[in-house]
Amino acid sequence: MGKNPQKFDATNEEVATYDVSKFKDLKPEDLSISESTKKILNNVEKMKCITFQSDGKKWFYPTTVDEALSLSKQFPKAVFRQGGTGGYKKFDYDDSPMEVIFLTSIPSLKVITTKADGVLIGAGVTYTELVEGLHHLDPVKHKAVKVLRDNAAKIASVQLRNIATLVGGVLWGHPGSDMLPILTVAEAVLIVENGDGHRQVSVGPGVNRKLKHGDLVVGVFIPNNTVNDIIVFCKQARRKTVELAVVNMALYTNFTNNIKKTIIVIGGIDLAVKQCTLQDSSRALNLEKLFTSKKSGFADNSAALLEAIKTDLGLKADQYKIGIIAEMLNDIMVSKKTVLNKPSAHQLFEKVNSSQSSVDPITRPIAHLSAAEQCTGEAQFTDDIPNFVGELKLVPIHSTMANAKIVKLCTKDAMLVPGVVAWISAEDIPGLNMYANAGPPDTPILPKEDVNFHGMIIGAIAAETIEAGKEAVKLVKITYKSNPALVTIAEAVEKDICIGDKSFIERNQDETLQKSSTHSFDGKIKLGGQFHIYMEPQSAIAVPGTEKNELIIYAATQNATGVQSAVASALSIPMNKVIVKIRRLGGAFGGKEGSLPSLIAAVAAKKLMRPCRMIFERTSDLIAMGHRHEVHAGYNVNFNDSGKITSAKIECDVNAGSFRDVSVVWSMFLAMRLDAGYTIKNFNVSANPRKTDLKSNTAFRGFGGPEGTCVMEECIERIAHLTGKDPALVRRENLTREGDLLHQGEGIICDDNLLKCWEQCLDQSNYFEMRKEVENFNNDPANKKIKRGISIIPCKFTPFIPAKFRSQGSAYVRIYIDGSILVSHGGVEVGQGLHTKMLQVASTVLQVPIEKIHLVETSTETNVNATTTAGSTATDLNGHAVVLACEELVEKLAPIRDANPNMPWEKVIFLAYFQRIQLSAFGFYNRSQVDYNIKENTGVTFNYLTNGVACSIVEVDCSTGYHQVLKTDIVMDVGQSLNPAIDIGQIEGAFVQGYGYVTMEELIHGKEGEIATVNVSTYKVPTISDIPQEFNVTLLRNSRAKKEAVFSSKGIGEPPINLSISVVTAIRHAVASYRKSCNLDPWFQMRIPFTTERIFRACHGLISDEEENILSNKPYTHV
Ligand SMILES: Cc1cc2nc3c(=O)[nH]c(=O)nc-3n(C[C@H](O)[C@H](O)[C@H](O)COP(=O)(O)OP(=O)(O)OC[C@H]3O[C@@H](n4cnc5c(N)ncnc54)[C@H](O)[C@@H]3O)c2cc1C
Repeated sequence: MGKNPQKFDATNEEVATYDVSKFKDLKPEDLSISESTKKILNNVEKMKCITFQSDGKKWFYPTTVDEALSLSKQFPKAVFRQGGTGGYKKFDYDDSPMEVIFLTSIPSLKVITTKADGVLIGAGVTYTELVEGLHHLDPVKHKAVKVLRDNAAKIASVQLRNIATLVGGVLWGHPGSDMLPILTVAEAVLIVENGDGHRQVSVGPGVNRKLKHGDLVVGVFIPNNTVNDIIVFCKQARRKTVELAVVNMALYTNFTNNIKKTIIVIGGIDLAVKQCTLQDSSRALNLEKLFTSKKSGFADNSAALLEAIKTDLGLKADQYKIGIIAEMLNDIMVSKKTVLNKPSAHQLFEKVNSSQSSVDPITRPIAHLSAAEQCTGEAQFTDDIPNFVGELKLVPIHSTMANAKIVKLCTKDAMLVPGVVAWISAEDIPGLNMYANAGPPDTPILPKEDVNFHGMIIGAIAAETIEAGKEAVKLVKITYKSNPALVTIAEAVEKDICIGDKSFIERNQDETLQKSSTHSFDGKIKLGGQFHIYMEPQSAIAVPGTEKNELIIYAATQNATGVQSAVASALSIPMNKVIVKIRRLGGAFGGKEGSLPSLIAAVAAKKLMRPCRMIFERTSDLIAMGHRHEVHAGYNVNFNDSGKITSAKIECDVNAGSFRDVSVVWSMFLAMRLDAGYTIKNFNVSANPRKTDLKSNTAFRGFGGPEGTCVMEECIERIAHLTGKDPALVRRENLTREGDLLHQGEGIICDDNLLKCWEQCLDQSNYFEMRKEVENFNNDPANKKIKRGISIIPCKFTPFIPAKFRSQGSAYVRIYIDGSILVSHGGVEVGQGLHTKMLQVASTVLQVPIEKIHLVETSTETNVNATTTAGSTATDLNGHAVVLACEELVEKLAPIRDANPNMPWEKVIFLAYFQRIQLSAFGFYNRSQVDYNIKENTGVTFNYLTNGVACSIVEVDCSTGYHQVLKTDIVMDVGQSLNPAIDIGQIEGAFVQGYGYVTMEELIHGKEGEIATVNVSTYKVPTISDIPQEFNVTLLRNSRAKKEAVFSSKGIGEPPINLSISVVTAIRHAVASYRKSCNLDPWFQMRIPFTTERIFRACHGLISDEEENILSNKPYTHV
């Protein structure tokens, strides 16, 4: 059996999670390429020019420069393209030019030539070819080329570098270009041909404007350097990789005693979407003058330096950019080297009991059952379902106002577009034009008159093709009468507008403790929102039946019953006419509990009696669907000399958006989860869902958990700061312990597993020793600007869905006469491995190898009234139901099995069939005791707690604000893991998703509530290079969930996200250390996420309340 070397058990023995020997080694001849394509490919070398044509558009692939120029003359409007990556509208078919001349098949443009006086890089040379082709550089002559090569290697991703060219990057005409500043200071020139001979054009800001249409650049020439030349390039972005510069700077100088010449070019996209002026990179003439007049560069942030930067930046100047450029200039002569270790990871988990049968899969690290299909692309998601006969595509129209009335809406021109079939609007909804994710319906499916937020879907065009639909959408004319939009929590608080009841919990358990208070503090913290960024966007296909109002919906939803009931209500038909089917989702994270795409598709399908497919594009998804709630929390905390919290009052305001969605329930959960991993005996908390003119915010992994942890961990940090204690000691003092009664509900903590995780994590991370090492590192004068931080934090989590009636699960298990088994249950596979776990459970209970069991989909046809897959409860609810169904079958088969102990399974089933034994069973589970009542603060909020502790070490570059997580150790109590491979995957994934939330994912709204960060080029999620360099996860041994858990396992989907806050507290430690060294108050309050910009500002004392407000509300223009 092949081995996956990543998984280790307690004795460091390798455990295979999949059998690599079964992987197929694909050879080119195995690929199914048609004969005609093969013929073209074989003849490519011999062909002169390939032309592709479609819809009147032409793409040419000439093979010589002359051919390209003659095509350009023949088609004067044609544009040149190489990788085709430069420009934001590259995927917009309608806006693409009619004729494109691709230069990628011209061999002569692919050449790099080293000449006596410099290096000539052909226009067709990609970044990858440039990096590979410029190996042997002369360190003196080729200084500029080396800087170019080093930085070309860091551009975007491998995929982009493989097709994008250096010349394309120069002519891209974008202020984010890193290549333009370098080539400018290197005094490079473009060699340009246009059929009338060639000319040279010096590279510099605005170089693309110096070229005429039809000018073809054949290469870029970089002159040699001399021994005293210095060329440096610095880049500051919001994320270390795959990100454009907020500020970049290239500098050339000649470092002799008498500086003769300095060239400085500053570029960058400013604060990305916030204030992008889209101005070119520009020469920093004042800095150049200042630099030339100094003999040894800049040694400090002198007033003259800051003033010169300010003048050079002009309108773009702000404290952050001035500070960053000053730091860049100061650091030019200092080579800062952070040693990055090779990424490593260990996963430790309990060994399977030796008495367990080798075919019994429970507790084994089995790979996710559709992992292979998902990797190869064979796994089918909603939009992979082949087109149905007569299918139409739906393209949505979004409101461009936040709070407005539609005065006029005209679709006349849109309807004339060939292929357009219908306009779908509120008028077409035969039933209730309202739906809700939780509680009574309050959200219009499509608005009649009033639009409530920017991005709201007003209607949809139904067309034969997406292209026709998109063209028509542009022609729909809408006139609004707009009203002022209320966007921020602050405005809603000021006007005291709420969307539902405020959640309020107060409990005073220990008066003596309260009296022991010796200190107190107040503070406030602001937390941003977060996009779900699931891989698969919101999608649905509605297929009308031919008879009796039947309808089948294929939906990407976590909530099959929710979709079924909302669609039935909108169409005014009973639920038994609607079947919802879900094979799998490409991620959900709480964002797919709603039913909007299904509703619109169903309304269209019913109106037109044709299958209708609605697949959101990423931007539609981001602007029309809900996100993580923003929160503002104010706290007042009292504590005693030992650092124990004696009482705390926390008041939260939550940005709910325009409708309820889950915000009222969410606020209740926030109130419950504000205690994080601690027991606060005297606690008074409230969470107020505020109504604003934004899209209603919705569920997101953790559901109040990470937000509550951010608030409470800030309080703990503050206590440590005020008492001078190690924060770990303060945390230990307040940790939730066995026997504790929390501030909510009546459940008593029945074990000390959180303490066990705590101690094991302290031990595993070697916390106290590492803390000393971190302090020594920070005190070392060599590390003036690089500081480290370490932090260990606990989390406890109650997997549950708030309404008792929702604590139910069902499963249907069928055995066919060949012995094969089909399992269905009410849970949805969102990528979390639920189906894999369910098959493990069925296999164990039935005592049949897992290979004999299959699971196709979740369907309302087989499992009725299923609870939404949420709250980390799906395994508990559906797993129990699978157990019950399988137990019933085992009981039925027992007489045959007992009488024939060695009889093969297939024979047992065959015999059972002949004996007319029912070979299918239904399991229904409804025993969970969770029944919390927030009004009374009674009932229990948990069957068990999922516990965990994480210790993170970070390194912060205080001159840029960048940080790297050097190491994270997690010890997690998942009870007896049903599947350690899947559980550890969930822990790692949740941690990294939370890490994105607290450090880089910044969701920015404009003044009208419009989202500025509408795609992943402006909204930054962590990349592979952001994950902890060393990432160790251990599952706590000998832990067994005692109550109501499937095979003693615990829900794990959400809890670990809380542990990512350890990075925030570790960054705090590092920044505090730097601030101390600069005589600044080590304590600072800062909004989440801790972006590079905020970390930089915190290091340099540039954060103030006023600035924070400015920072978040700055006007912006789209890039
Ligand atoms: C996800 C992503 C991340 C990125 N990150 C970075 C980054 O970190 N730093 C950075 O500097 N850049 C970055 N870029 C920009 C990237 O460098 C450019 O997109 C790329 O270099 C353009 O090269 P191309 O071959 O694709 O050009 P194309 O898109 O083919 O062309 C770009 C322009 O140049 C013109 N052109 C191209 N070749 C010629 C020629 N021979 N003669 C005349 N005109 C020509 C085209 O007509 C077009 O106007 C990023 C881009 C993306 C998509």
